[in-house]
Amino acid sequence: MAHLVTLIPGDGIGPEVAAAARRVLDATGVAIDWVVEEAGAAVLEREGTPLPERVLEQIRRSRVALKGPITTPVGTGFRSANVELRQALDLFAAVRPSRSLPGVPGRYLDVDLVVIRENTEDVYQGIEYPLGAPETAELRAELRRLELEEIRDDSAFSVKPISVTGARRIVRFAFEFVRSNGRRRVTLGHKANIMRFSDGLFLSIGRFEADRQPNVRFEDMEIDQLSMRLVRDPERFDVLLLPNLYGDILSDLCAGLVGGLGLAAGANLGWEYAVFEPVHGSAPDIAGRGIANPLAMIRSGAMLLRHLGEHEWAAAVERAVERVLEEAAVRTPDLGGASSTEDVADAVTKHLAS
Ligand code: NAD
Repeated sequence: MAHLVTLIPGDGIGPEVAAAARRVLDATGVAIDWVVEEAGAAVLEREGTPLPERVLEQIRRSRVALKGPITTPVGTGFRSANVELRQALDLFAAVRPSRSLPGVPGRYLDVDLVVIRENTEDVYQGIEYPLGAPETAELRAELRRLELEEIRDDSAFSVKPISVTGARRIVRFAFEFVRSNGRRRVTLGHKANIMRFSDGLFLSIGRFEADRQPNVRFEDMEIDQLSMRLVRDPERFDVLLLPNLYGDILSDLCAGLVGGLGLAAGANLGWEYAVFEPVHGSAPDIAGRGIANPLAMIRSGAMLLRHLGEHEWAAAVERAVERVLEEAAVRTPDLGGASSTEDVADAVTKHLAS
């Protein structure tokens, strides 16, 4: 029976890389029944929301989706459709591997990291109070009453909730991921010396669960120190377990260690649904030019195949990507080449068949 998969091309370079990934996955011969759903900038213009309810409904039906990036206008008060989607489907774990690849220029030869990012809480929960709004003044007055401290009246607020429920499930997910993927060590990143109660809670739950995991090495590190050590010595790290904001930032940093955003794949996982998408955004600077690197999206497609139980084909797609990179004849400009998105998809497809 064919696998039912929702395909959300997204906007910017999304449709270009989504078409390339679909072509590669179809070339495997795995039977996939694609249902395409539009989301993003054009839908926002037409319908007043970038993520109509029908898109979520379709993902609930298929349970799995492959998704391209969706633009979030900066500082307009518009909520990110990406964050909304993760919250609506309770996709609480983002899994983002970064591994050195043959033929890809980089400073390090032997990076093999996975970022596990809590995906639903933290400052991304969307509890925000804009400058000048009456509710902002109310919150400020309440905080002043509780803290006995003056807060500037020209302040805006973003609230950072971290719950026991949210922290515990991502911590347990990370340990389970380590066990089932033959990994060795978890490094938890935090800033609990400053955010004593929110990051402090995340850290104490991490330590509590680690004590019950005698076979997994565990360490914790302040996020600034972790950032420095990641750029100096990334090869020593294995699985990074991070609250939402730090996870977002360090995912891009880790992608940069091994060839950049054009290669970085990811999964958003919950108990019921799974949405696979590249780490990169809609790249408006190169959208529509046919030069976006489709490999991040193709590799996200390989993660999707594995999730569907098509392990051999997932490995075959990954091998084909590696062969293309190794040969270095066909690559997009972000990797120093002059090939198009389609050329890269063609090359991967050719290797799949060989
Ligand atoms: P971006 O990832 O879109 O681009 C950053 C840089 O990397 C750009 O120079 C871009 O050209 C390059 N790049 C990214 N992907 C590439 C690819 N596949 N091939 C070649 N080069 C690539 O980040 P940004 O510019 O900060 O964000 C643009 C928009 O995307 C914003 O609206 C942002 O909110 C959104 N965004 C969406 C997602 C998502 O949908 N999950 C993730 C991140 C950013």
